[in-house]
Amino acid sequence: MAVPSLILSNGEKMPVIGLGTWQGIDDPSVVSQAVKDAIDAGYRHFDCAMRYGNEDVIGRAIHEKIREGVVTRKDLYIVTKLWNDKHKEEDVVPTCRESLKNFGFDYVDLYLIHWPFAYKDSGDLFPASVESHVDIPLEETWRGMEECYRLGYAKSIGVSNFNASQIDRILNVAKIKPVVNQVECHPNLNQKKLRAFCASRGIAITSYSPLGAPLRPWAKPSDPVVVIDRPEVVAIGKKYGKTPAQILLRYLIDIGTVPIPKSSSKARIQENINIFDFKLTPEEVAIIDKFDTGMRVTSADELKNHKEYPFHAEF
Ligand code: NAP
Repeated sequence: MAVPSLILSNGEKMPVIGLGTWQGIDDPSVVSQAVKDAIDAGYRHFDCAMRYGNEDVIGRAIHEKIREGVVTRKDLYIVTKLWNDKHKEEDVVPTCRESLKNFGFDYVDLYLIHWPFAYKDSGDLFPASVESHVDIPLEETWRGMEECYRLGYAKSIGVSNFNASQIDRILNVAKIKPVVNQVECHPNLNQKKLRAFCASRGIAITSYSPLGAPLRPWAKPSDPVVVIDRPEVVAIGKKYGKTPAQILLRYLIDIGTVPIPKSSSKARIQENINIFDFKLTPEEVAIIDKFDTGMRVTSADELKNHKEYPFHAEF
């Protein structure tokens, strides 16, 4: 069954499920196989980022499928992101061009500012040292993003991990509006307020870590976890003949977001997209809504002192 698409505020279509490709612990051949398996399973949307270090591997896997005649570039929806050490306006276009070179494409469908905070590259994913933090206005970075759009490098532009007031700052100056805010979203953090805010601004939400990123390398044993197979979810799954993961992904679609689950397993890649032959009832959505605790798996605590840390605000 073909994956339905969401129509973004600029008229572009984004498939409502994508494959996450941040696979920190996997080697490149695993990512490559996952992308090929995903294309065979019907995925057309791939969530990537320069920081994941695998744009080239993903590009080669996709080109192989294009050469085999399975898909064309036009069938695909490729997303990538600008990392936090490239926020200066003059760095944005060259960085986007580097991503395109990595992929071997002449455009991406969506280019996102990965995080609102900027810092110097220190080798750390999230450097705690205040000396490495940099104050570059988001509005300046956005001008670079708009240039990527004008040059045809990105069919749409957007943001990730932005809170409501950061989005409004962009909207106040934007000539080209952001169409997406990609944020952590799963049943324990269903982003009700941010979703309503973004909807009021015509901005779609992509849900990252939709299954709660159970194998994230930075998880501490004491961290709360997103329990995929809660009894309520298992019970809903029984009704539809679906697994708990399928119910949770369907929930994220039924609340209007676009989940991008990561998997390296062919069986789970197929499982995660096999969710378009049923829909949850409003009562079932309400049951899962109640799981919300505001728990984040990616809180980037090291950046709490950065001026642009997004999670001090309620949403
Ligand atoms: P996730 O998709 O919530 O979870 C991935 C984990 O769930 C993997 O360990 C995977 O294991 C397992 N899994 C997948 N399908 C499953 C199923 N059907 N049943 C049980 N377990 C299953 O976590 P994520 O990778 O953090 O998030 C997804 C994507 O969001 C990322 O890959 C990345 O593209 C994006 N992301 C963006 C940001 C941002 O700042 N914008 C941050 C984090 C993530 P197997 O591989 O063994 O199946």
